[in-house]
Amino acid sequence: MPADYHMHTPLCRHATGEPSAYAARALAAGLTEIGFSDHSPMRQDDFDNWRMRLDQLGEYVEKVRQAQQDHPGLQIRLALEVDYLPGHEEWIRDLAGRHPWDYFIGSVHYVSDAWAVDNPEQLSRWKDADPFEVWSLYFERLTRAAESGLFEIIGHADLPKKFNIRPRQDCAPLFRRFLDAVKMSNIAIELNTAGLRKDCREIYPSRAFLELAAQKKVPITFGSDAHAPDEVGHAFGEAVALARSVGYTHYRRFSRRSHSEAAI
Ligand SMILES: [Zn+2]
Ligand SMILES: [Zn+2]
Repeated sequence: MPADYHMHTPLCRHATGEPSAYAARALAAGLTEIGFSDHSPMRQDDFDNWRMRLDQLGEYVEKVRQAQQDHPGLQIRLALEVDYLPGHEEWIRDLAGRHPWDYFIGSVHYVSDAWAVDNPEQLSRWKDADPFEVWSLYFERLTRAAESGLFEIIGHADLPKKFNIRPRQDCAPLFRRFLDAVKMSNIAIELNTAGLRKDCREIYPSRAFLELAAQKKVPITFGSDAHAPDEVGHAFGEAVALARSVGYTHYRRFSRRSHSEAAI
């Protein structure tokens, strides 16, 4: 089983279970490596209500260290899922210098300062939106995130499909432009199994998207995006099968923001 590099903690205010419980579950599921990548703080704590506050960052690191001590047989990485918004680059560099992170997952949730496309509390915003316009805005930001040099991994690359509201137009050109940026930056995209638990009922990204990624030899990682211990390693068999079926034989591992390749 590949490493599960995407999981959260209760500090983000919408996940349950301490890091040690996630680690125990990982061992029970037969995993040998995981990484915590909780939602990073914003410079302003009142930006939204689904992430840790800045003054909790040290507590987050301590919780991950505790899990490492409790489970010495499991490789546990220290990471963050960082929101990419244009103009936040300096803040993200500031965060990077605060602890010895193993990797940063760069994710786009916000297509404007006020709308996170995956937030169920903001679902009504989709009613007045043209899905293709939203996807275009989203991929413009995601491409900038890939070009920024701030991240090792780009998270859930086709997140706007979460509620299964999809454009009629062909999105392949958006995917290609983004994947070219990922390849140029020599970073990875993740296969994120949370999509299977949402209305879209498929892994992020889709098979068609992943086929393009494989053609360009874009590196991959795996993540369950667990918000509870029993989600650790969720559907990894299916994710591995998908990766292999489009031609992948390896995935990326990270330590102190350097990568190596491992066989799937
Ligand atoms: Zn979350
Ligand atoms: Zn996310």
